[in-house]
Amino acid sequence: MAPILSQLGDTDHARRSLPIATRQTVVAHTRVLLRDHRRPLLWVLALHGLAALVGLVGPWVVGQIVQEVTQAGSGGASLRRIDVLIGILVAAILAQAVLTWFARRAAFILSEHVFARLREDFVRDAVRLPLSTLERAGTGDLVARTTNDIEAMTHVIRFGIPAMMVGAMSVTATVVAAVVTSPLAALALLTPLVLHIPSSIWYLRRAERVYLWEHASYARLNSVGAETIEGLRTMDNLSLSAERGRRFDEALHEAGRAERVGVSLRLRWFPWLEIGFFLPIAVSVLWGGWLAWGGYISIGAATAVTLYIQQMLDPLGDLISWLDEIQFAATSLSRVLGVGEVPPDRVATGKEPRGSTIMVEDVRYSYREGHDVLHGVTLTLRPGERLAIVGPSGAGKSTLGRLMAGIDGPRTGRVTVGGVPLVDLTLTTLRGEVALVTQEHHVFVGTVGENLRLPRPLATGDEVHAALTAVDAEAWVRALPDGLDTTVGSGGHPLTEAQAQQLALARLVLADPHTLVLDEATSLMDPRAARHLERSLAAVTQGRTVVAIAHRLHTAYDADRVCVVEDGTISELGTHDELIARDGAYARLWRAWRDED
Ligand code: ADP
Repeated sequence: MAPILSQLGDTDHARRSLPIATRQTVVAHTRVLLRDHRRPLLWVLALHGLAALVGLVGPWVVGQIVQEVTQAGSGGASLRRIDVLIGILVAAILAQAVLTWFARRAAFILSEHVFARLREDFVRDAVRLPLSTLERAGTGDLVARTTNDIEAMTHVIRFGIPAMMVGAMSVTATVVAAVVTSPLAALALLTPLVLHIPSSIWYLRRAERVYLWEHASYARLNSVGAETIEGLRTMDNLSLSAERGRRFDEALHEAGRAERVGVSLRLRWFPWLEIGFFLPIAVSVLWGGWLAWGGYISIGAATAVTLYIQQMLDPLGDLISWLDEIQFAATSLSRVLGVGEVPPDRVATGKEPRGSTIMVEDVRYSYREGHDVLHGVTLTLRPGERLAIVGPSGAGKSTLGRLMAGIDGPRTGRVTVGGVPLVDLTLTTLRGEVALVTQEHHVFVGTVGENLRLPRPLATGDEVHAALTAVDAEAWVRALPDGLDTTVGSGGHPLTEAQAQQLALARLVLADPHTLVLDEATSLMDPRAARHLERSLAAVTQGRTVVAIAHRLHTAYDADRVCVVEDGTISELGTHDELIARDGAYARLWRAWRDED
């Protein structure tokens, strides 16, 4: 609950966002991608190049036909020759269609491979993200990168790359053909260049910043939206809806502002592009006509060059508009690659813990620089004990719990198990030592068995059954359509909240850590499910050291020791009876809670 609350008050969003890869990284990554797909890439380019070459035959043939027809008056025209020319034209069009079909097919296959690689890399990076980073950045940013950014890239990779290849090949081939046909007439080619190139450079230079801004503002909108929904209950309880609404409006306006700047930039660019599509043909007709009139070139050459220019404009337009989309996708790519740039928050040193005592030594921790929320906490867990941590909301209980479970390392001080800092262990070793149990749990898409075996893929069938029996879930799992092999998770067999939680608990039994940190494990459940779950939980905690972050004090009453955390320090530590006798903070909390109940 506390993290949500704290995020409600946090205005410094950028500081918490995930990194964004630099342009150099994006370029380097693209280069590696292209290098790894060099052969199919060359094949696609060759096919498109061939198709573009065959496409040049058309204007040339039409030029020849015009030439023949204009010479008809002087008696030189031959119907036979025109027939042959038309035959060539038809053959060229057919050949171009076939070649283009194959070229497109090869390009689509190539882009699917490239895209699959990007997706795989992204998933690998996202799964590796340190928990501490995710907690700080919030999931909204990652979700935006997984959805909006990948989406933007899909479109460009699927359609943009093939279209760019066609465009580049066709434009190059046509320009060369026009120049070869008549260098003088081909001067008309300068018109589109003069109009398109400077305006496009002007635009693309400014667009990158705007795109990054647009992406970031959408990510923020996502985050605020997701956090609002996650924290709905808290906000209702604390009447924070108005404040939340204000923050949502702010995020919305920010996204709106970014969009408007983007649109106004495009609106200034588009007219130049539009003119660039009409003017060149007019210029070419006039210029070519004048040259032919003056006898500098033949009428056939003038026709062919004009047709070449016309034929070039479409792919040129495609090329330019894709450049824009590619720039947009490149900013997406920089956000996607940024996920891989988060440094690991722990480095395994290979040291093995000796013993299972968890010690917290003079620990300080801050979420924001200069704002410690724990101020030198020292605490030693006695193996096998049940310790309740109590204290006012925001005192630092959950933070301490997360440090004791090794989710994050302290800023200064140490949290160790058997003498080894928790953050020096590999995640797999760590999970076998201590685990954090919260009310958040996930059912992954897969069979029940796969879900259970996540912490120990090699667990035997007997062990899995024993774990299910321990949490009282054996009966309902056996009653599922395919028992352990029933597919669950999104789209699979639906599970109730309590069942999902039981699976998470059974997973814990399989992971078998000697210490558990429980953070309000059952507080959001409906009471019937909670009672049932408490039994399962009791079975799981049997024989382990348990740190219970108690948001209800009866947990403290049942504990061996109670630790009171106030303002980021431990103010009292002892048994329930000792602390009541002492008549300090705990006694006050206890009385207040008892009177309330
Ligand atoms: P408790 O569990 O006792 O309610 P927490 O450990 O959750 O307290 O929070 C201690 C302090 O740390 C609070 O002031 C809270 O606002 C802050 N805090 C907790 N989580 C975060 C977070 N993810 N980002 C920034 N501040 C946080």
